[in-house]
Amino acid sequence: MNNTYFYIEPYAHINYDNEKVVVYETLSGKSVRYFFGDEYLKSFVNHLVNNQSRSVCYDEYPYDSVKEFVEGCRNLNIGDIVSNHPPFAMPMKPKFMTSNDKLRSTKEMLFRVIPWVSNLVLYTDTEKKGTHEFLYQEKYTQALFPIFGSGEGLNKNKLKEQFGRIRFTRLKTISMVGNKFDAELLRFLKTEYPNVSFIFYSNVEQFVYTDFYNSTNYIKDVRLNLWVNPLSNIGIAKHIIEKCNKIGVECRLLSFVNKEKNISDKGNENEGVFFVPFYSGDNLSFFEHNVFLTEQDILAQNLTQQDILNNMSVNSNFFGELYFMPDNKIYANPNFSPVGKLGDDWHDILYNLLDSCWFKTRDMKPCSNCAFQYLCPPPSNYEIVIGKPNLCTVKP
Ligand code: SF4
Repeated sequence: MNNTYFYIEPYAHINYDNEKVVVYETLSGKSVRYFFGDEYLKSFVNHLVNNQSRSVCYDEYPYDSVKEFVEGCRNLNIGDIVSNHPPFAMPMKPKFMTSNDKLRSTKEMLFRVIPWVSNLVLYTDTEKKGTHEFLYQEKYTQALFPIFGSGEGLNKNKLKEQFGRIRFTRLKTISMVGNKFDAELLRFLKTEYPNVSFIFYSNVEQFVYTDFYNSTNYIKDVRLNLWVNPLSNIGIAKHIIEKCNKIGVECRLLSFVNKEKNISDKGNENEGVFFVPFYSGDNLSFFEHNVFLTEQDILAQNLTQQDILNNMSVNSNFFGELYFMPDNKIYANPNFSPVGKLGDDWHDILYNLLDSCWFKTRDMKPCSNCAFQYLCPPPSNYEIVIGKPNLCTVKP
């Protein structure tokens, strides 16, 4: 007698933990989730996931729980039953397949890291000094917010010299964060990278004293993000938007929010303002209500198979970004140790990037024991700043 096999389609992602199994279909974003009511389904799923052909002998599991799971998958066309040998589907490979050890092996291999850099972030203001306005200062750890201080700041000549020794072949954007628009530096960057987009982040109070329009009028692709307080300076911000519209610069208003009351207080002035959650050290409940992912949020995403494979190997929140901070150090992200400083050999910086947060995935508990491990977006700045590996309601 021929055996029958149940198999999972190659475009479906399957994972399980102690409680449940989740199968996510990457063509339509549909999914099924079953809690393990008995050991039979758990054993069935264990075989299914760990078998290279992602199939299991169905005849060996004549149990209702298994039947229900199989029917659920068949109804969504993410798995089927076949006689004889199950089909073998070649699993997709992650985009970033070369192992980091291999990339470290020679200088030539290390240069393969260069095309991964897609966004340079330059903090153009002075270095922060002292502890005054602590919370205000630390906002840069959660979003692209200017730094205030009285220190030396980013050394323009060293920066130009550093950039002169490398060519980022797939650079897409240069983000400039601060309230200074150095025309000479901008011209240098524009000459080096004529086709990239320039994105500016500034505070509305300081922006009005800058020479933004004259400094950028020869750059075609410019976007401006203005940090505002809707209670006090929305009028001037709207005036800036009008001016930007006339010259074809897209302008967006951003505002930090750390409690629900902030949003309701700001009433009608909220219109057109993009709110960015801010962790102030004592507002975890605000994050629980507004930022934490629920199971519904996770399953409502439209993930491709490549997205899921990337979640297994890289952190898409951080990957490809290089920060140049006012302390003249270079970071993969300012919440982590620097990967170098201005003046360093690029080989050393590229080498350090291979151990950086670019590769920080959900490989720590509780995420490493969760069926949603590779469906969830990778850890963000918030997880790092709050010091909690998972911001979700699935495993509180
Ligand atoms: S954040 Fe971690 S624990 Fe929460 S659902 Fe995602 S993978 Fe699971």
